[in-house]
Amino acid sequence: MRMNRIQFQPGLSMPEFFERYGTEGQCQEALQAARWPRGFVCPKCGGAARSRFVRGGLPYWQCGACVHQTSLISGTVFEASKLPLSRWFLAMQLLTQSKNNVSALELKRQLGVSYRSAWLLKHKIMQAMRLAEDGRELDGRIEIDDAYLGGQFSGKAGRGSENKVAFVAAVQTTDDCRPLYVCLSQQPPTLQAMAAFAASHIAPTATVVTDGLWCFAADTLVGAEHERVVTGGGKASEPHRVSRRPIGLSQTGVV
Ligand SMILES: [Zn+2]
Repeated sequence: MRMNRIQFQPGLSMPEFFERYGTEGQCQEALQAARWPRGFVCPKCGGAARSRFVRGGLPYWQCGACVHQTSLISGTVFEASKLPLSRWFLAMQLLTQSKNNVSALELKRQLGVSYRSAWLLKHKIMQAMRLAEDGRELDGRIEIDDAYLGGQFSGKAGRGSENKVAFVAAVQTTDDCRPLYVCLSQQPPTLQAMAAFAASHIAPTATVVTDGLWCFAADTLVGAEHERVVTGGGKASEPHRVSRRPIGLSQTGVV
């Protein structure tokens, strides 16, 4: 099989995962380091900790200024959950390392929790990922294209299909076209929708590469430099794709 650098890129293997996050203590340390890399900061007043104690197996801090007590998980997606952090971390590993969708039923089996817990875990993690992505702004070299999801129904394929969900994908790449970040937006490929997408996710200093679809002219509204590559479809596009090495969406692992 021909080696594809994108598909063969390294991830976090399960043995490595359990080495780093296999115990509750390791997960708590990782979360604490991510929340407060320079030491505890009171979420209420910004003060430093006066004391630290453990209650119900969870570390708590008491603020030295306002005496507010904060647990490690308060104000996070883990708040109010009865599941240990190690189960949450394992769920995040399973959901983010799989190229395909992991069902709540599969998560239930892998985590050894009830179906309801697995369903809630999955949706909370996916919502947190979506919120994290919402504020992302791409810069540098960006490839944008429209794509269509849904293959169960017959009818027209791709652009203009009445049976598929349209979305726009923007991929920030390195100068030699390796993918770095992706922004996805479920929206029709219209000038108005693209203008809103570009205003939210494309930096004015970016260089945008698109095909010739007219709606992509909207990205110039934010001042980004714009390069259009009109390749045509099928075999006609091959010479362009080989010479420019653009990223196919399937190579990003997004679809
Ligand atoms: Zn405080």
